[in-house]
Amino acid sequence: MLKKNPIGICDQCDGVIGYSKPGWYTSKHQPRRYCCRTCRNTANAIAGVPVRNAKCQERIEAGIWVNPAGELTHDQITANAKLVGAAAGAKFKEQVEAGTWRNPALSDKAKKKLSRPRTIKNKILHSAISKLTQGAKMADLSPEEREAQHKYRKAQRTALRASWAPERREQERAKWRSYKHKNRPAPDDGNGP
Ligand SMILES: [Zn+2]
Repeated sequence: MLKKNPIGICDQCDGVIGYSKPGWYTSKHQPRRYCCRTCRNTANAIAGVPVRNAKCQERIEAGIWVNPAGELTHDQITANAKLVGAAAGAKFKEQVEAGTWRNPALSDKAKKKLSRPRTIKNKILHSAISKLTQGAKMADLSPEEREAQHKYRKAQRTALRASWAPERREQERAKWRSYKHKNRPAPDDGNGP
């Protein structure tokens, strides 16, 4: 791979590469691309994203990977969520009683994560999502927030459907057709496909 930045500058973080340690050149006499192992690993991971995505898409299209959520019943999902919740609750209670519980948001790792730029750049959508996660209903949102939320959910649904294998897509369509045809509640939670 060709070096992007001038010799002595990291290709990942644009930081300075130490002249003698780790050295501007590798033991193979090639210009060193990264200042540290973390930068090298990060760059390699980023470079691999399209490759991994393509492989994943192939597995989906070939029907090798099927979303396991589609095969679980609503009751199974609820039961599992309850189990996980109970275990987390017990652990929390234990730590509080022992006096060892610390607010996870105050750990160094969390502070670093929380100071990263927002994943959702749209301010209106961000506030809509925050309100909804804190228990607000759609009716509590402003009209702009509601519209942003609808658009976002629609894009998510479209992406989910696009990830389905053709057979799965046909299954969901058939489900939806029979629901519309018979005009009765769908066997699942009634949200449609
Ligand atoms: Zn670097």
